[in-house]
Amino acid sequence: MQGFYYVESNNEVFECKLRGILKKTNNKYNCVVGDRVEISEDNSIVEIFKRDNMLIRPIVANVDYLAIQFAAKHPNIDFERINLLLLTAFYYKVKPIVIVNKIDYLTEEELSELKEKLSFLEKISVPMFLISCQENKGLKEVENFLKDKITVIGGPSGVGKSSFINFLQSERILKTGEISERLQRGKHTTRDSNMIKMKAGGYIIDTPGFSSIEVPNIENREELISLFPEFSNIDSCKFLNCSHVHEPGCNVKREVEENKISKERYDFYKKTLEILLERWNRYD
Ligand code: GDP
Ligand code: ZN
Repeated sequence: MQGFYYVESNNEVFECKLRGILKKTNNKYNCVVGDRVEISEDNSIVEIFKRDNMLIRPIVANVDYLAIQFAAKHPNIDFERINLLLLTAFYYKVKPIVIVNKIDYLTEEELSELKEKLSFLEKISVPMFLISCQENKGLKEVENFLKDKITVIGGPSGVGKSSFINFLQSERILKTGEISERLQRGKHTTRDSNMIKMKAGGYIIDTPGFSSIEVPNIENREELISLFPEFSNIDSCKFLNCSHVHEPGCNVKREVEENKISKERYDFYKKTLEILLERWNRYD
């Protein structure tokens, strides 16, 4: 209901109002999903504690993980989208994980190919899980990983997100297919993100807004470079302010040539830099 906030404490949910002093006019971020708050005896939110982080789309605070879900097939994985979501996670200081569902569609050979293609994730310390909701493979492992954490999950429609959330949640409310039907009718834009309690403990927040994600508001090249973990642990380039694009003596380019940094990741870096350069020029 409008103006009410639902606060959970010791397994009970309280319908609360926000204390007047916390209502800053025109600030839609004054109290958001995921906030840790203190409530008074008359069910007023009297304090909002400092946030560890906050995502904007969806608006959620104190997120432990951003789970990026794709399907091995039907629909195919979109690697560029994975990179964009990884960038977004690093930008908002939320740890990303990648989940690939529907591995039951793959032959042994295809499975090894997929692992090879995703091996760049290990180099940047992003956990990766291969699962099949249909054959109940790998689900427990992800569940244990997400236990007691707050996880925002996103991915394109049809990848089996509702099937996976059905498995994780304590009560089976979402029917498989429900979300995709809704998405097809195009009503998802106004739907709020939804905190779902997991049976293992912790929460999962389903977000329908992931397909519209764009390159975040990165302010300069140094900031962009800092969002590529694989660029940080190498020797310095010849030039202090190396853009890692056309300078001689660039160690990032050398690592790409030596296959130590993934070529796809590097191409994604260059493409993102171009998008940002255009954006920065427009606003200068
Ligand atoms: P969502 O749109 O991401 O929420 O996807 P759903 O959970 O609605 O699943 C989309 C379709 O994929 C449904 O027909 C599911 O039965 C099917 N599906 C979900 N998980 C798997 C899986 O692991 N393997 C296979 N083969 N199909 C799956
Ligand atoms: Zn360089």
